[in-house]
This record gives sequence, C-alpha cells and structure tokens, in this order.
Amino acid sequence: MDATTFEKIAQWSAGRLAAGDPQGTVTSVCTDSRSLKAGDLFVALRGDKFDGHTFIAEASKRGAAGAIVEEFPAELPPGFGVILVKNTLEALQRLGAEYRRSLDIQVIGLTGSNGKTSTKDLTASVLGENFQVTKTDGNLNNHIGLPLTLLRARGSDQIGVFEMGMNHAGEIAPLAAMAAPEVGIITNIGMAHIEFLGSREAIAQEKGMLAEALPPSGTLILSAEDEFSPAIAARTKADVVLAGINKGEVFASDLRPSASGTKFTINAEGRTAAAELSVPGEHMVRNAMLAVAAGRAFGLSLEECAAGLSKLRLTKGRLEQKMIRGIQVIDDTYNANPDSVAAALRTLASMPAVGRRIAVLGRMGELGVEAERGHRLVGEVAAQTHVDSVIGVGEEAQWITEAAWRGGVEKVVRVESTEEATKVLRDLAKAGDLVLIKGSRSARMERIVEGLLAQ
Ligand code: ATP
Ligand code: MG
Repeated sequence: MDATTFEKIAQWSAGRLAAGDPQGTVTSVCTDSRSLKAGDLFVALRGDKFDGHTFIAEASKRGAAGAIVEEFPAELPPGFGVILVKNTLEALQRLGAEYRRSLDIQVIGLTGSNGKTSTKDLTASVLGENFQVTKTDGNLNNHIGLPLTLLRARGSDQIGVFEMGMNHAGEIAPLAAMAAPEVGIITNIGMAHIEFLGSREAIAQEKGMLAEALPPSGTLILSAEDEFSPAIAARTKADVVLAGINKGEVFASDLRPSASGTKFTINAEGRTAAAELSVPGEHMVRNAMLAVAAGRAFGLSLEECAAGLSKLRLTKGRLEQKMIRGIQVIDDTYNANPDSVAAALRTLASMPAVGRRIAVLGRMGELGVEAERGHRLVGEVAAQTHVDSVIGVGEEAQWITEAAWRGGVEKVVRVESTEEATKVLRDLAKAGDLVLIKGSRSARMERIVEGLLAQ
C-alpha cells in the first residue's frame, strides 16, 4: 500500500478517527496479529473462533501503528491510531475498494472452478513482460483475502491480477464490485463446491457474475472448450475472447509433452509463435492460453506472451515436481476435486516414465450428494489413463479404488491414513517410477510427500 493517512483511511472505511494523529500514515494492513509487522494497521475482524478485538494489545506490542475496531480498546500506547467503525469486515472491504479506485491500475479479475491460481500466476507472468504487475499472493481470494490483496497494490503498479473464489452463491458479485475489473477470466465451470451450489448450472450462474460486472470497454476471456461459455458470454457487454487448445480465437496447437513440461505453438489472428511451459499437463496449456488472451487484450505480441509463459513460477503444491531417491514425485497436494484430479491423472499419463505410474489419491471434500459419483469418476479416469497402481487414502477413497480396480488398474490399495499411505508407497515405489500425490486440502496429502522426504 502507498503511504496513506489515518484521516484518509477513516474516510475510506466509513469510520471515525477516535485517537491518534490524522496525518500519521501506514503502508500495510494486517488482520492477523501473529504476522503483523511494525507500522501496520491492524483490522480487528470477528471470526467464528476468534475475535480480533482480543488481540489489539498484542498488535500494539508488535508495533502496530493503529487499528480499525468496533469498540474503543481498553489500553492504548501513546500515538496509537484508532478508527471506530460499525463492522470491521465491511470497513476492510470498503477500504480495499476505495483504495483500489484511488490507483491508476487496470484490474484483471479471475474466477472459475479449476486453475484460478495457476492462471493468475500465468497471466501475471505474461503481463510482466511489459507492465508492472501485482497479483494475489498465494490463494487470498475471498471476501477477506481480496480486500487485503487490493491493499497490497502500489501506485507504481499498472496491472493487478486478482483471483476471486467462492464456496456459496452470492459471493462473486461483491468481490467483483470491490475489485472493479476491466478484464475478466473464467477458467471453467466444473464440480468444485457443488455441495453448496447444487448444480453446474448454478455454478455457471454464480461465476458469470464476473461477466456481468465488466464494463462495455472491457474484455471477457472464456474457455473455448467449456460448454457453459456461450451462456456466460451472453451476459456481458464486454468483448468476448475464447481461448483453448485447437479451438478459439487464441489457441494452442501442436502440443509436445516433454519430461518437465509442454512445448506448443500459440496462434491468434493468423499469426503463430513457439512457446514452452515448464509445468506439465494439457490443462496448464489451457490455462496458459487464457493468459495469452489477456496478454493480447493489453497489446502484447505473441512472442512477448511466449516469453512471459517461459518465466512462470507456480504457487506451492500445484504440480510441483520433486525427485526423491530417483522417484519422480508430482506434488499436487494443495487441493482436489474430480475435475482437477482427472486433469492431474491425464498429466501423469502424458509424462514420459521409465518405471510405473502410481497415483496416491486422497478424499475430495465438499461434493455433497455427488461424493460417490465424483470419487468413482476419478477411479475410472485412473483406469482410462492406464495408471499402474492406485493408493486411495481415507474412507471415501474406497469409491476411487473400487472403480479403478473394476476399470482394470492392476494394483489398488486403500488405506485409512497418510501415515499408512507413506508406508505403502515406500515399499511400492522404485527409482524411475512416477508418483502423483493429490487430495483435498482436508486430506493433508502433503504429509505423504514430507514422509517420503524424511525417510
Ligand atoms: P482453489 O479453488 O483451491 O483456489 P484454483 O482454482 O485456484 O483452486 P489451482 O490452484 O490453480 O486452482 O489448481 C488446483 C489444481 O487444479 C491444480 O493442481 C491442478 O491439478 C488442477 N487444475 C489446474 N488447472 C486446471 C484446469 N484448467 N482444469 C482442470 N484442473 C485444473
Ligand atoms: Mg486458488
């Protein structure tokens, strides 16, 4: 954040400066007293388990310059700024939205069921070729993460690439209103969070709120492959660009998987350029083409887009490749849903392997009534992609291993815990094997990677 006075912050957050110097400034906003740095502005949010108001003393001890609060704190160090508001969460959201509007920055808003964070990183990488870019840090994509992300932008930034996530209906519109994007990217419409949304149609309805939020001068970038794209395109006044593989206005062709990634050709308006990604998977090429379409919307040449793609660094736990005693481990443990596991299994199949291909798959959460179908689907894809062994972790993974076994996977094992999975994997995997490890956040599958490393 650029240095902002308490006076301005009080105005933007619709609060009242109740203590402190109106002309005092802060350059950073924090909602977690544990990661607070000296000079930060602390926002006391009330959560389900904790109330930020109980940590104000700790925040001031750590050197906070002031706080946004609903109640005047009991004890205050001299000079501590206090901004009193009705609701601290709303104040944070207003502050983020107003601060964003004070900047001369163009925002790319990004949502979708799968690949938001990867596409965000790819898009920032492409636009970084020609612009000063700020982007969502990690996965800070919700009603708290987005305002904090907006507040991290600087006056010197030209473009912001911001991820917008949702679990429930009604969440995207307020995020889009806060970020005020000129460009929107919707990666796809899948099954993530279907428990709360009910159907893919409902998910499309919700994600499409980003399309509705774009100005007529803006651009909406959609997947050329997704069956919901035409319906979403009809909901915006912005220009629509479809991107994909072998179809769309911006597309990839001639895909050649290599040991560590994919080489391909990017095409737009009859021109082509050679490109290469250092992460494997056809779905990553698909994400990359959305990023190239964003690059084109900001006037980058195909060569510049390709140069940006080659510099990609992904966020942790997404198709990270690790060599552990000669075993090539694909750490995709960050999260999972049926679409992303299917994509990861296809990636596994596309990678050259000396030995066998082993998939260690944990439970997938938030599938509701689709849980059994979703897990079975994954087992079927494991069989179709000719995985040699499947290790299922957790009770629901039984549906995965059963479907995989029926589909003809030679060796299937189901275990209850990540510890057991680690043991089984240690005995099973040999140098030259390719091992995919993936599951929902709640399955904590990274413990298996840690277990292998610790051996
Ligand atoms: P979250 O909702 O948890 O924020 P996300 O949408 O940001 O997830 P990423 O973090 O980019 O998604 O990717 C998560 C996993 O989804 C990846 O590890 C990969 O396996 C898979 N994935 C990425 N892109 C796609 C895609 N286009 N289609 C299907 N699966 C994908
Ligand atoms: Mg994400």
